[in-house]
Amino acid sequence: MLQQTQVATVIPYFYKFTKKYKNLESLANSKEKSILKLWEGLGYYRRARNLLATSKILVNKYNSKLPKNVDEIKNLPGIGDYTSNVLIALIYNRPTLALDGNVKRVISRLINTNLDKIDFKLFIKLNKKNIFNTERNSDLVEALMEFGALICNPKTPKCNVCPIKKKCDFFNSTKKIKHLKRTMIQKNINILCYLSKEGKIALTKKNNLGFLNTFNLPQIENAKNKKKLKNWKLLSKYKNSISNKKLNINLYYKFSKNIPLDYSWYSIKKNKDFMPSFTKKIFKQVSVLF
Ligand code: SF4
Repeated sequence: MLQQTQVATVIPYFYKFTKKYKNLESLANSKEKSILKLWEGLGYYRRARNLLATSKILVNKYNSKLPKNVDEIKNLPGIGDYTSNVLIALIYNRPTLALDGNVKRVISRLINTNLDKIDFKLFIKLNKKNIFNTERNSDLVEALMEFGALICNPKTPKCNVCPIKKKCDFFNSTKKIKHLKRTMIQKNINILCYLSKEGKIALTKKNNLGFLNTFNLPQIENAKNKKKLKNWKLLSKYKNSISNKKLNINLYYKFSKNIPLDYSWYSIKKNKDFMPSFTKKIFKQVSVLF
């Protein structure tokens, strides 16, 4: 749940989720639809599907236990390098670091070196003895993440109360590195909605928004592609931010009986199926036409 999502947003979802699914078996035996319902509004729904798929594999193949080998963990759906390292440290107390943005920033400040100049894997390898000078590797991993979020935070690190400031090159240097800002990607898109007089909208899985490509959406075009707009009417212009993408959207529509192959009709009013908020916004806007 926490991937790409802030803790404060996740908390109510986490409580609802763990209230319903009290253990791995109950999760593995549930239906995708029920899980997606609980996830509704949290976004990045692929995480929910992966969670279900992973729970089934753990129950059926690993006797409801997490494998002890990082490569085996990485083979589970939705689990990459970062998550597998967090899991292996938190659950099995292994000496490993999960390199998220917080941890990388802490390291970069401790050695007062810009993020893009550090080979983190090599850094950890070379400093293994100093970093893992503890029996409590699971606490170390969690503490570093929290430390980066709460003390050595991105904009205003609380150096005065920092317990390791004496060893920090950033704190002690007169030439401090500057933190690189997260860059937002701007994208201008046209959304083209085929509508039917009966209150339906044509959707397809063929869209060029990679982060939403598991969902049925209307036709999405690069806004530069003006040739496609002949016979389409502009309904609205609005903005939608998803992760590090800022979308400037022009929403077009046309009533049509014929739709391209790969499209299917969906009822705008009656459709109660789960859908991402991106699609809901489109539905809400085109519904004023009926
Ligand atoms: S002294 Fe400041 S910059 Fe250094 S680790 Fe502590 S909070 Fe971060």
